[in-house]
Amino acid sequence: MPTPARPAYPNSYADLRLWFDEEWKCLDYLDWLRWPNGFSCPACANAHGWQAPDHRWRCAGCGKRVSALAGTIFHGTRTSLSVWFSAAWLLVNSKAGLSATQLHRETELGSLQTAWAMLHRYRSVMAQPGRDRLSGNVEVDVSYLGGSVPGRGSLGRVLFAVAVEVDADGLGRTIVALIPSAGTAQLAAFLLDSVEPGSRVVTHDWSAYPAGIRDRYVHVARPIVAPGSPTRQVLPAVRRVVFQANHWLMGPRQGAVSAEHLPAYVDEWVFRFNRRHSDSRGQLFHALLGYAVAGAPVTYQSLLKTGRTRPAPSLPVPRVESGSLALPWR
Ligand SMILES: [Zn+2]
Repeated sequence: MPTPARPAYPNSYADLRLWFDEEWKCLDYLDWLRWPNGFSCPACANAHGWQAPDHRWRCAGCGKRVSALAGTIFHGTRTSLSVWFSAAWLLVNSKAGLSATQLHRETELGSLQTAWAMLHRYRSVMAQPGRDRLSGNVEVDVSYLGGSVPGRGSLGRVLFAVAVEVDADGLGRTIVALIPSAGTAQLAAFLLDSVEPGSRVVTHDWSAYPAGIRDRYVHVARPIVAPGSPTRQVLPAVRRVVFQANHWLMGPRQGAVSAEHLPAYVDEWVFRFNRRHSDSRGQLFHALLGYAVAGAPVTYQSLLKTGRTRPAPSLPVPRVESGSLALPWR
């Protein structure tokens, strides 16, 4: 990937406050992330438009007025974008996780509910099914995540499918997705969504693994009890990922996660895990906002029910342009 001529993200919280000290700069940053190759009308796909002084676009095709926030998780927000940006920064920079209570305390958000909904809106875009499929050597298994912690009530235990890249250096990226059951159809759908065809897929030799994976992948089925070494881990990479995810999910910041919200927290953990080698926290901020403008709006009611939606948007690539002092990313 070519090195951008301009910085694509702030490198510190001080930078963030400096870059985004006015609302229109936040809006311009989201505009830049959403339309890296220039405006494209979400209603009619026309690529020509004029930007009004309020930074909204007027489409040359259908005449619609379009904001960079339209049809994203920011759609119709009454909270200032600089608060949204601070929240995104705090969220990706808190390794243990960020609770709504903490966010409420550290920003100018009016209520705890607003803080809670904002965090869930960000979580709703952190996993993008079908994008960035795993490849190479991939272990696949199903496992329960969540559980119960003494003194904190009973938490939901929910079944997930887990795929992990394994290379010479250890663990690569992972994809973890809720599945209704460990049936053949569910596993086949998960594999199609998560692993590039041609990859080497390592599973245990359980009969639910679909026959189709033998055509699409190089399938290695390991016996559940390895002869002569009963204590050997059959799928050690999956076990490590499940252990780490459960450890994080049980952390104090996540609180008592109910079964219906568990997938949202799992998505957050995967987002963090897959970027654990990032040089800068700003990279995570940039990735999250990029996902946010590619995501679909989430209503408060749907957050209460499920904690998220599963949009499958496309993520724009950052563009390189001549710069200006007020907009470091341009
Ligand atoms: Zn249009």
